[in-house]
Amino acid sequence: MTSSELELNKYMQRDAAALLYGNAVSGIVISLITASFLVFTFDNPLTNSFKQMWWCGMSILLVLRMVDVIIWKTKLQHTEFDGEKAVKRYITGVNPTGVMWAVYLIFVTKYNTSVELTITLIAIAAMAGGSATILAAHKYTAMFYAFILLSPASIGLLLSEQYALKLLGLLGVSYSIVMLITSKKSADFTRNTLFLKNENKVLVHQMEEKVEQRTRKIYELSNLDSLTGLYNRTAFITHLKTVFASSKKPFALLFIDLDGFKKINDSIGHQAGDQILKKSAERLKLWSLDTKLLCRWGGDEFLMVLADTDEVGAVDISEQLIEMLSEPHNTENSVLSVGATIGIALYPEHARTEDRLIQSADMAMYYQKKQARSTVGVFTEQMDKLYTYELRLKNALTKAIEKQQLRLVFQPIVSSKNNQVAAFETLLRWQLDDENIPPDEFICIAEQYGLIHEIGAWVLKDACLQASQWSSEQALAVCVNVSVIQLQDEHFITIVDDALSNSSLPGERLHIEITESVFAADISIISNRIKQLQTRNIKVSIDDFGTGYSSLSVIQDLAINMVKIDRSFVSKMNTNGHAIISAVMHIASSLDFLVIAEGVETEEQAQELQKLGVHYLQGYHYSKPIEIENIDSFLTKVNVPKESFFDANQLVDKLRI
Ligand code: C2E
Ligand code: CA
Ligand code: CA
Repeated sequence: MTSSELELNKYMQRDAAALLYGNAVSGIVISLITASFLVFTFDNPLTNSFKQMWWCGMSILLVLRMVDVIIWKTKLQHTEFDGEKAVKRYITGVNPTGVMWAVYLIFVTKYNTSVELTITLIAIAAMAGGSATILAAHKYTAMFYAFILLSPASIGLLLSEQYALKLLGLLGVSYSIVMLITSKKSADFTRNTLFLKNENKVLVHQMEEKVEQRTRKIYELSNLDSLTGLYNRTAFITHLKTVFASSKKPFALLFIDLDGFKKINDSIGHQAGDQILKKSAERLKLWSLDTKLLCRWGGDEFLMVLADTDEVGAVDISEQLIEMLSEPHNTENSVLSVGATIGIALYPEHARTEDRLIQSADMAMYYQKKQARSTVGVFTEQMDKLYTYELRLKNALTKAIEKQQLRLVFQPIVSSKNNQVAAFETLLRWQLDDENIPPDEFICIAEQYGLIHEIGAWVLKDACLQASQWSSEQALAVCVNVSVIQLQDEHFITIVDDALSNSSLPGERLHIEITESVFAADISIISNRIKQLQTRNIKVSIDDFGTGYSSLSVIQDLAINMVKIDRSFVSKMNTNGHAIISAVMHIASSLDFLVIAEGVETEEQAQELQKLGVHYLQGYHYSKPIEIENIDSFLTKVNVPKESFFDANQLVDKLRI
């Protein structure tokens, strides 16, 4: 049987039971009245005791059936009762009633006068007729009942020797056959009616189920994240709103951001990335008491609500979450691992709307990630101020070039040999309204929001243009700071070429300064860019040397031309700075690169660096960064020697001799 046939059968059985029990009271009452009438109307000493015993038996049976009907009507009727069981229970009472009547009639036909017999036959025949309708909901019971009531006694009469009784028997048998056929037809008709009624019901139900399935699918599509199966942004916000509306207790929102995910996604591939996201989501699910309050916010970010939690509790759980998320993942080909940084915002302490709460947790995560990855940070008002400031800068920075708020200043770099200017480092300045925003503040914002590409291209173009216009006997070099993000850009070399061709500045007069953070990036891309720059005779220096992750072997492999010792070492010349610079000088001579010391502020420092053999010096001791319009007058004041900065390798050779 198919599922819809089973369902149809179930409905029909329930309806049949309802019909049978619905007619039961009248059937039982008629049986009781008829039985009492027949037993107590005719007085015959021969049969009285049997009839009374029979009456007692029949009454008990009918009372039991009545109790069953009452139970059904009061307890079962309005429940999801099992139709088949109910029908069986009902016919278990009806069929013995039929047998009782059959026994009674057989007994009466044996001992009774024709008047009592005739009346009994008529009464029982009437009941058999009634049963065709009353029991029509169960075909075999209806047929059995109609047949059993009259036929055994009628057959007995048919076999008797008296002609009148034979006739009566014939009449009874004929009536039984007619009733059998009528019961069958009536039952078939009832069954058909029930079938039609319930067929529609099943169809409607099936349609409802389909609609429900579709609705569920649509719900899943619009509310669940297809990759992880977690709720998506929209659904999460809806659920969070209900928490805001109902929660009277404080709760915490965690902003969870995976660390190192991008690297896996970029280097190993999106499939591996997807695996990590799925597995991380599964781990988070294990911890979430209410999955409605856990979502994939986007990319490798997840949000989770911790109900009824204070700061201490939230930090504690977050630390455990980080530990769990940091456990290695066994994927098909390898074992991969990521970390997680979590930002916490508390309701109502930090925010009273869902948007603000999410934003606060996001901020806490963002600032925490800057401090230390794979740790937990809780939102503070200070972050909010910083964020607002950053946002203000970011918005203003997008229009800074257009509004001509950016300009370049140039700081001279001098040769330690003769104190003559060899090059200028380009430093970016931004004047927003009346405020000078320091580059340390806005460069990282430009990097974060992708504005560095446009700004960096402008710097390169303008620096080359300015350098090409310097009126100096000697061709001075211009050093341009380039961020790692720019260097990774596939258009970077084109941008450099455009800057050179636009200004007609020869490649050897351009130096590119990159920070040590390049070593954390994809070294094959970096190496490729550096080689392309060097084929154009552009020199490359490592800026802020000693502060980050310099790798000497990479410096050698990349054939870096110069290294700029960070000013922190120069300022610490009296302590361990001296030893460090001296060590760098040794490496420089063996790896064949030039050394520039930054942040030279005093004559003593300059002399000490000179003694150590540092090739070039830069700092306030020589000059602060100079405005464009003052460069020419600055250059005329100082005498530029023949030996220029870009003859660096020659100089190294000379120094070695
Ligand atoms: P940097 O490349 O290390 O630049 C040197 C910084 O040290 C400059 O600060 C300069 O003004 C300062 N300085 C020079 N001599 C001395 C000195 O004797 N004592 C002290 N205390 N400081 C000295 P500035 O101009 O504020 O630049 C800060 C940083 O901003 C730069 O550090 C560089 O990393 C970044 N930057 C500046 N312009 C650009 C640019 O055009 N592109 C990129 N990507 N970064 C830039
Ligand atoms: Ca620099
Ligand atoms: Ca530097």
